[in-house]
Amino acid sequence: MTKVHNFSAGPGILPAEVLQQASEACINFDNLNLSLLEISHRSKNYEAVMNEARATVKELLGLNDGYKVLFLGGGASLQFAMVPYNLLKTGGTAGYVNTGVWASKAIKEAKLIGETKVIASSEDKNFNYIPKGYGIPMSLDYLHITSNNTIFGTQIKRFPVTPVPLVCDMSSDIFSRKVDGNLFGLIYAGAQKNMGPAGATMIAVKEELLGKTGRDMLSMLDYRVHIKGDSMYNTPPVFPIYVSLLTMRWLKKNGGIEWIEKVNQKKAECIYTEIDRNSMFVGTTALEDRSTMNVTFVMHKPELEAEFDKMWKSANISGIRGHRDVGGYRASLYNALPLESVQVLVDVMKEFENKFA
Ligand SMILES: *Cc1c(COP(=O)(O)O)cnc(C)c1O
Repeated sequence: MTKVHNFSAGPGILPAEVLQQASEACINFDNLNLSLLEISHRSKNYEAVMNEARATVKELLGLNDGYKVLFLGGGASLQFAMVPYNLLKTGGTAGYVNTGVWASKAIKEAKLIGETKVIASSEDKNFNYIPKGYGIPMSLDYLHITSNNTIFGTQIKRFPVTPVPLVCDMSSDIFSRKVDGNLFGLIYAGAQKNMGPAGATMIAVKEELLGKTGRDMLSMLDYRVHIKGDSMYNTPPVFPIYVSLLTMRWLKKNGGIEWIEKVNQKKAECIYTEIDRNSMFVGTTALEDRSTMNVTFVMHKPELEAEFDKMWKSANISGIRGHRDVGGYRASLYNALPLESVQVLVDVMKEFENKFA
């Protein structure tokens, strides 16, 4: 099989050995001579998967025992609704920082549940920076932030410090760098960017924050119901959870968060250095807010895009066309992407400059 350099923004690249192990589990899981896809989620073998997956999230985020970890369906987008439904009190107010498309969608849902204030936004500059230094009212039930803006290529480098519970959408940079999970009231992440395949969403929530809304709760939307059911109140997305576990095992085996943070920094430095050096390209975001996960850049002469596209495609690069809201290019450097792939892209950028500058 030809090696493809997969820069897809999501669902994103997974380690080759994880895909191999996942495909084996589809045929014969745990030497049961049964597929993982055809056994009960209540079986001993699957319960072990769920327990290890939840425990490993706690370990990787350094969470104390006050936190519960869930794997639910519905994508990160369902969390846009579940977060306010579970944390926004009747008569209370939620605060949001609007840093892009995903944050805007989260705000839209919260407004349907209760009083929602946007306390800072970077919409004035097409979300090309992270707002800083904004005041956080003490009266908020929670403050919602997005650690990495997948579409616009910005990333929070310093999280706000506040007694207000922080809720963070970490869908596109979970497990990419050292983060003290205990600083947050709730963390959620759709698996398909940086922790596994599509179909499962991880939620880590400080249990003491729950049960205070004053509303009668629908069971499937109530975190407490899922916690009580050990994340198996209903049939969980068994396969995406298993593959997420395999990916977390891969991460741990290679040196964990400390290792991947260094690798991710190297990859990001490699491509940003080239963007800044290369006369054909320009980065789209504020320098200090550049994401290590999603690198967005455009061309000085967009009329040459077709030529560049031909070049990277013939180098077996895949998935770097930018999102329509930004245009140009987006290279996603998720955990499973090796430095070697970034070097291949950088070489193509150099070659392009040599030919067309
Ligand atoms: C992709 C993404 C989402 C949406 O995830 P779904 O699983 O498709 O609902 C939400 N937030 C961020 C930051 C994302 O990157």
